[in-house]
Amino acid sequence: MTEPIVRYNQVSKYFGDLQVLNKIDFDIMPGEKVALIGPSGSGKTTFARLLMTLESLSSGTIQVDGQYLWHEEKDGKLVKASSKHLREVRQNIGMVFQHFHLFPHMTVLENVMEAQVTVKKTPEKEAEKISKDMLDKVGLLEKADVYPAQLSGGQKQRVAIARALVMKPKVMIFDEPTSALDPELVGEVLEIIKEIADEGEMAMLLITHEMDFALEVADRIAFFDGGKIVEQGSPEQMINNPETPRLNEFLSRFN
Ligand code: ADP
Repeated sequence: MTEPIVRYNQVSKYFGDLQVLNKIDFDIMPGEKVALIGPSGSGKTTFARLLMTLESLSSGTIQVDGQYLWHEEKDGKLVKASSKHLREVRQNIGMVFQHFHLFPHMTVLENVMEAQVTVKKTPEKEAEKISKDMLDKVGLLEKADVYPAQLSGGQKQRVAIARALVMKPKVMIFDEPTSALDPELVGEVLEIIKEIADEGEMAMLLITHEMDFALEVADRIAFFDGGKIVEQGSPEQMINNPETPRLNEFLSRFN
């Protein structure tokens, strides 16, 4: 049987007294594309940030490719992960944020090369070749030597996607990748994400308000409400036969 690439087990998250995630069990299979939808404040971003190691767990476990993310096994017991362990497991995870987070003082090419050289220790020449090929793929090879400030928002996001992809992550997380973009720039970014999705190998977790896009790209949609996944299924099933009144109501806002 195929093992999941990502496994959330009884994951809860509190901010102070506020419970934001409530004992969530969730698997993502290798190559599977999962879209998270749900009202604002329902916990989607926090759910993804735990996997990005940007937020720590309150309880439960998360595994990536069989390895615990927030824990490690010592003498048969699960203990809190060291930062070294966290760094290692994190190499399997690529992230693209709403606000691109490019390094402003580096060229486009340097941005895409950086983690390959410093984290993966790829020789510089090789990293340059891989980076240029990836920039070509996202249609930005001719911008290799410019600085991020000289790019449009859509171009910046395509660079951010290239930078994540060159690390060959097993799972890519897109956290509202188009919500900071001017409407006319959304299409070019969605197009690239769709191309990557169609290649098939990588699992993807996608938080999006672009419902049509979620339907087109996702194998499975998970609907968050009040810190729980209250319903999940194939796009067709979720749209045509929503089981819960909450999902029905949520979807009606998009009609
Ligand atoms: P969504 O992505 O579905 O909009 P979030 O995960 O961003 O939901 O937020 C879920 C809840 O957690 C909200 O009530 C939000 O205000 C709260 N929250 C998120 N981050 C923090 C934080 N760092 N400190 C306190 N509360 C937070």
